[in-house]
Amino acid sequence: MSKNKKNPEGQIDRRGFLKGIAATGAMATITAAHTETAAQSASENKSAAKSWRDRPDPIDESLISEVGTYDIVVVGGGNSGMYCASAAANKGASVAVIEAQAEKGYVAGAGKEVATVNSQYALDHGAPRIEVDDFLREWARRNAICHDPRRASCYVKNSGRIFDWVISFVDKKWLDENCHMFSCPPLPECLSEVSGWRFYHGTAVFLNKNNNTGLETWPVVARAHKKKAEELGAKWFFEHHAEICDVDGSGAVTGVVAKRADGRYVRFKARKGVALCAEGFAQNSEMAIDILDTYRHELEARGGNINAGASGGQGGAQSGRGVGSALSASGVKIGIIRDGSGIKMGIWAGGHLEIGPRASASGEPGGGVWFLQLNKNGERFFDEAAGSAMRQPSDNFTVTIHDANWKKVIAMRPTHHGSVDTADMTSWPPTLAQLDNVKPGPGKNSWGKDRFLRFTIQGDLYCANTIEELLGYMDCWKGETRKKALAEIQRYNEMCRKGVDEDFGKDRRIMKATELKDPPFYGTVNKGGGIGMGAGGYTFVGLDTDAEGHVLNSEFKPIKGLYAAGNNAGNRFIIRYQTPMAGMSIGMAMTEGCLLGERLAAL
Ligand SMILES: Cc1cc2nc3c(=O)[nH]c(=O)nc-3n(C[C@H](O)[C@H](O)[C@H](O)COP(=O)(O)OP(=O)(O)OC[C@H]3O[C@@H](n4cnc5c(N)ncnc54)[C@H](O)[C@@H]3O)c2cc1C
Repeated sequence: MSKNKKNPEGQIDRRGFLKGIAATGAMATITAAHTETAAQSASENKSAAKSWRDRPDPIDESLISEVGTYDIVVVGGGNSGMYCASAAANKGASVAVIEAQAEKGYVAGAGKEVATVNSQYALDHGAPRIEVDDFLREWARRNAICHDPRRASCYVKNSGRIFDWVISFVDKKWLDENCHMFSCPPLPECLSEVSGWRFYHGTAVFLNKNNNTGLETWPVVARAHKKKAEELGAKWFFEHHAEICDVDGSGAVTGVVAKRADGRYVRFKARKGVALCAEGFAQNSEMAIDILDTYRHELEARGGNINAGASGGQGGAQSGRGVGSALSASGVKIGIIRDGSGIKMGIWAGGHLEIGPRASASGEPGGGVWFLQLNKNGERFFDEAAGSAMRQPSDNFTVTIHDANWKKVIAMRPTHHGSVDTADMTSWPPTLAQLDNVKPGPGKNSWGKDRFLRFTIQGDLYCANTIEELLGYMDCWKGETRKKALAEIQRYNEMCRKGVDEDFGKDRRIMKATELKDPPFYGTVNKGGGIGMGAGGYTFVGLDTDAEGHVLNSEFKPIKGLYAAGNNAGNRFIIRYQTPMAGMSIGMAMTEGCLLGERLAAL
């Protein structure tokens, strides 16, 4: 970012930073979003390029070559849109689904973990019943009460029933082979609370038990819904990119205009409503930088280097999916569009974004690696069990050290994103076996390459019979720094024996379990992982939407005819995507999509 201006103190000037980003071509100029920018002089604003917030010029009517009328027009056939369409069609409504993906290779919603509350399936497969008030309190606490409690309540009351309905479309034999409940029944040693953060067992995992590739089977359920919905008359329009809502003189939304692959336009008129289900803006740098406060601030702090900081928070699972990524968790290329168009359409029709605060996706409390971690200076720097979303320096360097009792420690881990899944019999035995062949002695080893090994430690692995020997093999600290590291390890062990982490307040049970006492000792040196907090492959900041899915106008009243679900609807995961169960994004998209479909069909 050589173009950034520096002020006399050598700090990057904010306006220079924003201009510098624009100059790289990585994004268009950011305008009205920020108070600071809004305070720019009128003359500067005049010369600014159009922002994503500005409603585009009307589409030339002569280019609209087709018009269709439906009860419900669903924009995006993913995890929310698919189930909105299915529920509405099942209630007798006529439905059009506008989908930007091509029919060939269509993925109806990425992912494999689907979290719901007290479904019959979960209870039948060993999940302890969730106390709903306890769950709601945890959600409120994680969101620092900035979320919409009615939305949370609606999800808690309905998601179990809806999950049972959704999976009733696939046969039981398929389900037995392709679904299980995450870490259910729980091992007796599994913790349900860490450092005060609570976790629940409500996540269904869709992976084939005989296939070790990690390929998600959840989209198969969607295909079953699409088939049934089509039998009931619903129509999918592939390679149609929804561009703009039609708004009448009273401000009501009456339909959508979409662009076909051949460049022509189609008008979809909606008798009952338009459901925006078109996900977020992870592929739109301009929107990501404008909307995601932490992402923008991190970029600014890094001098505008858009390629840095696209991984998870320190100690958490790395997302590895930066802005623009189109990879599924199993590494398969997917064509799902996340260009922010659903949100733009909502804003151009009179809606606004959730108030926030608005953060990017990754970093989850309790999702740290739990074992002792030291930095480049040989210092311990955080509570490894709670994790930290604090950005580390760009030459981030972490050493993770544990002893022979590591299997007991990972068995204690609760069911958060990226945690070990003790019910996944394709994954759990190799997870436990991964260090069995690593013996003390000089030389580097590596962690298993198995796709299912979700254990979050990454880097070069060393093994020794004593800590001193281990430090010698790792050879990552020299002289005084090595002495410092040794002293830190000794202090950590003393605190473990006392049972109290006087430095960072780590959970006492985890302190006790992670004392470095029984050989062999293992050390993993990770140079350059876990830095920063990127936008992630998906975003959760959505339109201000009420519990019934109405998109709200500037008076916080419903815009007639306009609804949103999934990641187009905000007020759910505020501050960051850190939830009491893994898979709540799909769980909520599916639940709210279904409820919206049912509600619209009944109008
Ligand atoms: C690789 C990966 C793995 C994930 N794994 C999980 C998981 O295991 N559990 C979990 O809870 N969450 C997971 N997520 C997040 C989850 O997939 C999303 O949060 C969820 O799908 C959101 O649902 P949605 O309906 O809002 O969007 P999507 O399911 O993404 O559906 C949006 C659809 O709209 C289409 N579209 C977009 N714009 C337009 C337009 N203008 N016109 C027409 N169509 C349009 C897209 O092509 C897409 O089909 C994962 C995300 C990724 C990227």
